[in-house]
Amino acid sequence: MDFEPVIGLEIHAQLLTETKIFCGCSAEFGGPPNSHVCPVCLGLPGALPVLNRRAVELAVRAGLALGCAIQPASLFARKNYFYPDLPKGYQISQYEQPLATDGRVEYESEGETVAVRIIRVHLEEDAGKSLHEGLSGAGRATHLDFNRSGVPLIEIVTHPDLRSSAGAADFFSRLRALFRAIAVNDGNMEEGSLRCDANVSMRPAGTRGLGVKVEVKNINSFRFLQRALDYEFERQADVLRRGGTVVQETRLWDTASGSTFPMRTKEEAHDYRYFPEPDLPPLEVPESWVAAIRATLPELPEQRKRRFLSDYGLTEQEAGWLSQSEAVAGYFEETARKSGNPRAASNWIMGPVGRHLNEHGIDIGQLRVDPAGLGGLIELVDRGVISGSAAKTVFERMVESGDSAQAIVESEGLAQIDDAAVLGAAVRTAMEANPQAVASYRAGKTGTLGFLVGQVMRQTRGQANPRLVRALVQSALDAVEIDTARG
Ligand code: ADP
Ligand code: ZN
Ligand code: MG
Repeated sequence: MDFEPVIGLEIHAQLLTETKIFCGCSAEFGGPPNSHVCPVCLGLPGALPVLNRRAVELAVRAGLALGCAIQPASLFARKNYFYPDLPKGYQISQYEQPLATDGRVEYESEGETVAVRIIRVHLEEDAGKSLHEGLSGAGRATHLDFNRSGVPLIEIVTHPDLRSSAGAADFFSRLRALFRAIAVNDGNMEEGSLRCDANVSMRPAGTRGLGVKVEVKNINSFRFLQRALDYEFERQADVLRRGGTVVQETRLWDTASGSTFPMRTKEEAHDYRYFPEPDLPPLEVPESWVAAIRATLPELPEQRKRRFLSDYGLTEQEAGWLSQSEAVAGYFEETARKSGNPRAASNWIMGPVGRHLNEHGIDIGQLRVDPAGLGGLIELVDRGVISGSAAKTVFERMVESGDSAQAIVESEGLAQIDDAAVLGAAVRTAMEANPQAVASYRAGKTGTLGFLVGQVMRQTRGQANPRLVRALVQSALDAVEIDTARG
C-alpha cells in the first residue's frame, strides 16, 4: 500500500523587542551568562510580571500577517513542569484563549497554489539555557544561563495541511521571510530565534482521515526539517507496511546520525496542570489598536510578488526573486521608474547586480550604484548612446568608482560608434583578416556572419552599434557573393 505523509508545524519565533516579555531586562542574544537577569526572569518568589506592550504589538503584527483574527481578550496561563532552566517551575504561556486564531497563508509554489491554515498564534516566554560542554565539571555539572529566560516568543501552530518534506521546508522558509519582512523576528536559526517542531503521520494515499502522529522536536534548519521528515516518513511507512501501528510519541532529531529517536511516549507525556496566571490580567486588545497596527504593516512579499507580475509583466521567477526583500524590491521599482524600462531593470538586477552582490557578499543597500545610477545606465543604452556590451563595462566602472554612467562614458570614450564609414572600415578589416570565414559563408555556412560581427565588436571594444555592424557585414558578404558570381 502507498502511504501519504501529513505534516503540521509548531514554530517558535522570538519577537524583536529590546526587553523581555515580563521585565525590563535586555532581550538581546548572548552577553556574559546571567548578565540579563532580575528577580522576575529568575523566578524569585514574590516578583511580579508586567506585560511588555511592544511584544503584544509584534505578536499582533505577526497574527495579522498570517491572516488571523486577533482576539479582543486572551489569557495567560501557567504551564507547570520541572526543568533546571525553568526556575519558576512553570512557563507563562497563552493556552486556552490565544491572542490570534484561524489564519491562512497562501502562496504559489512550482505552479501550484498552496494554502496552509493557521490554528493559533500565542504569546509565551522562553526558558533559560542548560550548558554542559566545555565548562568546568563537564559530565558532572549543569551550568545555567538565564539570559534567555523570559525572552518573548510567539508560537505558531498550523493545521496538518502540509504533504511533503520539501513543502514543509518551503513553508517554514516563507514564514521566516515574512517575519523578517515585517520585522517581528530576525530569522536567526543558529541563535535559536526561530525553531520548529514537526508533527507527522502517514495515511493510505488518497484517504482523508489522520493517522497517529509523532512530534519531532529540536529542528533548527530547513535542511534538517526536510531530512527529519523524510526519515520519519520511511520509518512510519515501514511500521505500517508490516501491519504494525505507529506509537504516538515525541522524538528528537539527531543531526549526527541523520535519524530521529524516542524522547517520550504519550503515557510519559507531561501533565502541565495549566491554570490561569493569577498575576496577569486578561490581555485586552481593542479593535482600534489592531487597526493602528494593521496600518503599519508593509506590503507582504506574496502581495508584492503578485503586484510585480501584473504591473511589470515579469515572469513568475523574476517576480519571486525581485520581491524577496523590501530592499531588493524597492531598488527594482525605483530603477524601473528612473529608467522607464522595467524589463531592463529586472535583467540588470537579476544579472550583473545580483552577481556583484554575491561575489562581494554585500546587500543591495551597500551597492555603490543606486537606482538612479542604474536607471541612468539603462537610459544610455535605450537612447543608443552606448551598446549593451559597453554597458557591462560601464557598470563595472560604476560599482568601482561610484561615478555616473554618463561621466564614465565621456571620460573613457565608450560612446557607441554609429558612424557607418568608421564601421565599414572595421568590417573590411575583419573580412580581410578572416578570408576562411568569408569563404565558408560563400559555401553556404551563413553562421559565420555572427563570427564576423563578433570580430568587429571586439575590434571596437564593444562600442560598435551591433545592429549596424550586422547590416554592414551582411551587405559586404552579399557583395562578395555577387562579385564571385560575376567573376
Ligand atoms: P496536541 O494535542 O498533541 O498538541 P494538536 O491537535 O494541538 O495536538 O496539534 C499539534 C500540531 O500537530 C498541529 O500543528 C497539528 O497540525 C499537528 N497534527 C495534529 N494531528 C496530526 C496528525 N495526525 N498528523 C500530523 N500532524 C498532526
Ligand atoms: Zn528580568
Ligand atoms: Mg496542542
